[in-house]
Amino acid sequence: MNSKKLFEEAKEFLPGGVNSPVRAFKPYPFFAQKASGSKLYDVEGNSYIDYCLAYGPLVLGHAHPLVVEEVTKQLQIGSAYGVPTEKEIELAKLVVKKVPCAEMVRFVNSGTEATMSAIRLARAYTKKTKIIKFEGSYHGAHDYVLVKSGSGAAGKPDSPGVPEETTKNTILVPFNDPEAVLEIINKEKENIAAIIVEPVMGNIGCIPPKDDYLEFLRNITRENDIILIFDEVITGFRLAEGGAQDYYNVIPDLVTLGKILGGGFPMGALAGKKELMENIAPSGEVYQAGTFNGNPISITAGLTTLNELNNTFYTELDKKGNILRNAIIDLINDSKINYKVAGLSSMFQIYFTEKEVLDYKDAKTADTEKFSQYFQLLLEKGIFIPPSQFECCFISYMHNNHDLEKTIEIIGNAIKSI
Ligand SMILES: *Cc1c(COP(=O)(O)O)cnc(C)c1O
Repeated sequence: MNSKKLFEEAKEFLPGGVNSPVRAFKPYPFFAQKASGSKLYDVEGNSYIDYCLAYGPLVLGHAHPLVVEEVTKQLQIGSAYGVPTEKEIELAKLVVKKVPCAEMVRFVNSGTEATMSAIRLARAYTKKTKIIKFEGSYHGAHDYVLVKSGSGAAGKPDSPGVPEETTKNTILVPFNDPEAVLEIINKEKENIAAIIVEPVMGNIGCIPPKDDYLEFLRNITRENDIILIFDEVITGFRLAEGGAQDYYNVIPDLVTLGKILGGGFPMGALAGKKELMENIAPSGEVYQAGTFNGNPISITAGLTTLNELNNTFYTELDKKGNILRNAIIDLINDSKINYKVAGLSSMFQIYFTEKEVLDYKDAKTADTEKFSQYFQLLLEKGIFIPPSQFECCFISYMHNNHDLEKTIEIIGNAIKSI
């Protein structure tokens, strides 16, 4: 089998040949055969050092032996029960221990469901309707948040089928700009239920918050009875054991989790203070439900993964990130073109722009043609990064020095030839 033929066939049966749009890169995506550690293999037998890592979940790399072992054991005793399990309590306790704002957890099936439920909870609790969202942030594919989540027009839904009545309650502001938030809050504070924010934006490349920006959001929301939701679907268990709130020491009211939480299996969660969380059904009236919520396979994979994470783990992971980012900065300095290297910890991206990137508008100055060239040059040499300028690259614990050296060499050659 080859990927080109498979993609032709896939297009007959799956819209665009894929089950999520970013996967359909040009001229055709490679089809996966298998994966292990830092490597992904296509059906032709080529191997790739993987910095996409399924868009974030695989902090332990692919098919980690411990995860495989524990999930296999669980599979043999059942994959869904429709009644609770002890492991759900165990994982909830672990989340509460690691994530500063978490006192209670509701497990769901995806990051999308987590943000949808968190927004519903915030609206119910505050009895207010509007939410503030940042331009270029992505909170999943549901209607409340599909407004300028990458490439849409201001204030308009990003997708046909999303009524403007839904998105008119979603107020967009630029990231890293306190004045813009103040202006809206001064005008509308009695209507604003929540601010939802990716504390480090990871769906428009990688944009960290300016100094004190998250503290500013914390203070302004507290003063105005607005719920602060950190969407840590990427940053949770990625930047530190307790995610971005731990890394920056700013504690939100609610957090949404996903990706790493499921250890490579579908899962999401919302978590926060008891006072808020107890409003969720059945202890409260805010409806939230799911056939596969707390699925024992995902819970097992998440539990096994989270048990591997500790301070030493993050020190090691950050070291790998620093090696890679510093080397890319050197390569760019040598090339005399002032592209911007972004990222922190185990997240990185190159923006093909000379402008400093602090928000969506800056990110959009990047030359996506150049990025596509860069992506293709890397792919040809066995390095797989997300195919879009506006995604973020990830490093796993399994990426070794040899992987990093090879990657640096190939990125160097690519930058030279662009
Ligand atoms: C991936 C992502 C989501 C959506 O999660 P899914 O599991 O894909 O539904 C939400 N928020 C952020 C910040 C994400 O990166």
